[in-house]
Amino acid sequence: MKYDYLLVGAGLFNATFAALARKAGLRCLVIEKRDHIAGNIHTENVEGINIHKYGAHIFHTDDENCWNFVNQFATFNRYTNSPVALIDGKLFNLPFNMNTFHAIWPDVITPLQAQQRIAEQAAEMAGKTPSNLEEQAISLVGRDIYELLIKGYTEKQWGRPCSALAPDIIKRLPLRFTYDNNYFNDRFQGIPMGGYTAMVEKMFGDTDIRLSCDFLADKENLSNLAEKIVYTGTIDSYFNYCFGELEYRSLRFKTEKLDGQNIQGVAVVNHTSADTPYTRTIEHKHFEAENTTAFNTPYSFVTEEYPADWQRGDEPYYPVNNPRNSELYRKYADLAAQETNVIFGGRLGMYRYFDMDDTIIAAIQCFQQQVNK
Ligand code: UDP
Repeated sequence: MKYDYLLVGAGLFNATFAALARKAGLRCLVIEKRDHIAGNIHTENVEGINIHKYGAHIFHTDDENCWNFVNQFATFNRYTNSPVALIDGKLFNLPFNMNTFHAIWPDVITPLQAQQRIAEQAAEMAGKTPSNLEEQAISLVGRDIYELLIKGYTEKQWGRPCSALAPDIIKRLPLRFTYDNNYFNDRFQGIPMGGYTAMVEKMFGDTDIRLSCDFLADKENLSNLAEKIVYTGTIDSYFNYCFGELEYRSLRFKTEKLDGQNIQGVAVVNHTSADTPYTRTIEHKHFEAENTTAFNTPYSFVTEEYPADWQRGDEPYYPVNNPRNSELYRKYADLAAQETNVIFGGRLGMYRYFDMDDTIIAAIQCFQQQVNK
């Protein structure tokens, strides 16, 4: 056989795997359904500006190994994510921090006052274990913030009422009692200068890649090209949906070139009102503001991000975390465990809400398990 590994999907999981395999002298062939590499972190340079084609991606991690790993393939800038939330013509800083609390409750100035105000509001949940996202949010930040900054956004994002969503997702958002608008708590953060596609290109190096090649359409022939397969597509599609479809959430993007050097003053604006159909607007040039040539152009690209239901054929973005899907995933994972020569990886293969660093860490672990076998 010509290859040690057939890597299905050219996203971050397989780019990590390929980089490690190359170093270890193993031969990989990558096949990718789309006509480009880098999966959903793909960036495309349009008139000098790197566009995050599948939504904003900000790299952040607390894991030093992971940080050192990615820094082999790109120079990261010092971008710090500080999105703002816009509702009814008013702006609030995110994540929830002293700036947010003071803007919502002008008499709140000190951390103690903020803690007291939240405790007063969270009292409606006293003695109750939160059983859904609404209850979880109110017990964490109180009803005012829930109504203003969480409810509308979350219900648009997930397409169902907060009272019907699992509590965990909201815990992704930091809550802090300092005047600090940095969205992430992690020690390391930044954007690869020159875009994610260039970084992923370096990760793959001279690995053979076939674009516009659908693995599932020619599974048998392609499987014969390598000893083992790393599959990063949706796990249910690999098994031909034999137990039924897992649910995903999808996104649609509307990107416009606008006149003006600086349109919104920040990379990410969250639109938290239920009345605005999109959740975020992204002004791409702000991700690489140190690139003054791109930043000073008299035009700018702004993308509206619309959450959408997912149907077969759409791009899947987020796994939907609920008991039905967890149980269904378990069944597929049991089948997957019987496939001795196929490894399932990444957000779609493992059906997990991975951040980029989680994906890389999982791929490093997966590779190490393979070489230790
Ligand atoms: N969220 C919210 N208001 C916001 C931003 C986020 O209520 O302004 C909630 C929402 O439920 C979302 C979750 O927090 O699904 C996680 O947000 P994050 O920004 O981590 O989502 P991602 O960037 O992965 O889409």
